[in-house]
Amino acid sequence: MREKDYLYSMKLLFLICLAVQGFLPDSLDERVDKLHDSIISIDTHNDFAMSLAFPERRSTVAKGQVSFELMKEGRLDAAFFAAYQGQGPCSEAGREKAKYLADSMLRTLHRYARENRELGGIAYCPEDIRKLKKQGKAAMLLSIENAYCLGEDLSLVEHYYNMGVRMIGLTHNGNNDVADSCIDSLERHGGLSPFGFRVIEEMNRLGMIVDVSHASRKTCLQAVKASNAPIIASHSCVFNLKEIPRNLTDQEILAIAAKGGLVQISIGRYFLSFLPKEQVGLSHLIEHINYVVNLAGVDHVGIGSDFDGGGGIDGVENMGKMKAITRALLEEGYTPEDIAKIWGGNVIRVLDAVRANARSF
Ligand SMILES: [Zn+2]
Repeated sequence: MREKDYLYSMKLLFLICLAVQGFLPDSLDERVDKLHDSIISIDTHNDFAMSLAFPERRSTVAKGQVSFELMKEGRLDAAFFAAYQGQGPCSEAGREKAKYLADSMLRTLHRYARENRELGGIAYCPEDIRKLKKQGKAAMLLSIENAYCLGEDLSLVEHYYNMGVRMIGLTHNGNNDVADSCIDSLERHGGLSPFGFRVIEEMNRLGMIVDVSHASRKTCLQAVKASNAPIIASHSCVFNLKEIPRNLTDQEILAIAAKGGLVQISIGRYFLSFLPKEQVGLSHLIEHINYVVNLAGVDHVGIGSDFDGGGGIDGVENMGKMKAITRALLEEGYTPEDIAKIWGGNVIRVLDAVRANARSF
């Protein structure tokens, strides 16, 4: 072949390659990355604050699953970071200690955000999340897990709102002054206490999301009814798929959905399956998501990892692996629109509704 012909055929081959490449569908990983460019992803629960504020405290749960760096790696745009307290005695001293713990953890989270400002910042509303995403930064939303820290003092709801808190979980694994928990064997209030009803009213007034994960069934159903705005379960799964008190019955899921709220599926073996930990993976997570979608609709489900608090499964061991969920949802046949809702669109809708409701006071 003459040199000129050879060069011509090589050129032609190159152009054909380019054309074919243009028509080939994107690989799944490329589709995942493209999708994350256009959506807002939000995880509604982690316990990072505990290990950050009190590193000396021993715990049996895995740590190191949460950081701004890992959020970036996993394309997770925003997360609710909870100031968590276990339930202690509802005495003056117990309540004081709970408030001290909550305040300390919230201050520590603020400090973390300040010290890592090149990687992320605190968000108080959806606009802040969008702004931070545009800057390539992670958004930290603040929440409280266990309203024990309120004691019997209604003014503390506003105190925590002013510290940036936008969601409060009513209980942990024990009854408190606000409500009954799903774990305590004895009822104290038969759901919400009279003070608990006032707490919900105050949260509605200020614009804070009521979180019913860890609450008793009666507490959950009463909270849905009492709240003027949608409520969420920030990290709970489906009782019909794993029958434990921490998971939600169909009645609870439907009640939460009817109010416009969300069931945020947790990424933890404890919630998902009775199988040994190493055998629990993405298929179990997807099964719980599918269940809520089929029962209540795609507008009422999302993700609440529980990382640094017991979360983590095979394939999604930490926040850096969140893209594996997007991939699994695409493989399951969810549309980009559905995935946008599951990953954070639904949470944004609830944040907006809670704020709009507060403005109506
Ligand atoms: Zn929890």
